[in-house]
Amino acid sequence: MRLCHACLSKPAEIFLDYSQRRLCIDCFLKYYEKKVKQTIDKYRMIKVGEKIGVAVSGGKDSTALIYVLKKLYPSLNLVGIHLNLGIKEYSNHCNEILREFIKKLNIPLIEFNLLKQLGFSIHDFEGTEHGKKICSICGTIKRYLLNKIAYEERINKLATGHNLDDIVEVIFNCYLQGDVTQLSRISPITPANHPKLVARIKPLCMMTEMENLLYASYLELPFRSLSCPLSKGNRSLKQKRLINEKIVQEIPTFKHMLFKSYLKRIAPYFKTYPNVEIFECKYCGMPTSKDVCAFCRLTQRVKKLIVE
Ligand code: SF4
Ligand SMILES: [Zn+2]
Ligand SMILES: [Zn+2]
Repeated sequence: MRLCHACLSKPAEIFLDYSQRRLCIDCFLKYYEKKVKQTIDKYRMIKVGEKIGVAVSGGKDSTALIYVLKKLYPSLNLVGIHLNLGIKEYSNHCNEILREFIKKLNIPLIEFNLLKQLGFSIHDFEGTEHGKKICSICGTIKRYLLNKIAYEERINKLATGHNLDDIVEVIFNCYLQGDVTQLSRISPITPANHPKLVARIKPLCMMTEMENLLYASYLELPFRSLSCPLSKGNRSLKQKRLINEKIVQEIPTFKHMLFKSYLKRIAPYFKTYPNVEIFECKYCGMPTSKDVCAFCRLTQRVKKLIVE
């Protein structure tokens, strides 16, 4: 029997390949919480008295995030924000699990139902020219609505459950595509550069997807058991699989090295990277780099299709 490298008394249950450490369940939970706290402190993500909105989807990452934030900062003014995207049984399944869980945590939950409040769901984009890039459309809609809700609710910062695997996949894709603009935006904290934009923080950016899954599972936190039916062919899932199954197998430190070297050696060059000029959308008044924001362009198209 191998013993935990931290307490040297209990049997090790978890092997962290990137640091070659074996931990028992209790030491893993402590390690996880300590590392999240260190990340929040290092990037000064949360200040005393701030109202923090947490985007909760019903998945393991955002479930682990809201739980660990409540545990680390019991008196923090937290509010959950959930978007029901109207995706077949998947969205209602996520919604039900979340409602009960957030209530138990004694945190207020803002729910936004696309179908009920806007008259369309993500499925309505399937029949448009964007049908093949449904996750990218879904991402645009989620970013817009989360920001709008946070802005209207006077939330100071919006926390998302993005993990290390998510971030490394985006860096990897930016390198592949030579997408310097997108690369320049990758950061544990995205400041608000317009009065109607809410700053974003990623407290789990140093935690792997597996660590979030283990944390949520060992604590028996409820998270969705269904996968989104629209995720088939999703680029990010394919590239994450490639990174985990091929590269990390050979180089266990790959994900940590890529993000840390990006933050230390590449991100500083972006401090002087030209910011795009921000206007207000002529339809909704929210910030955009064009005269009509991406959300209004997309939704006008789909609303026309529904009416026709
Ligand atoms: S898998 Fe794609 S369509 Fe489904 S919720 Fe995620 S981003 Fe949206
Ligand atoms: Zn231990
Ligand atoms: Zn708009």
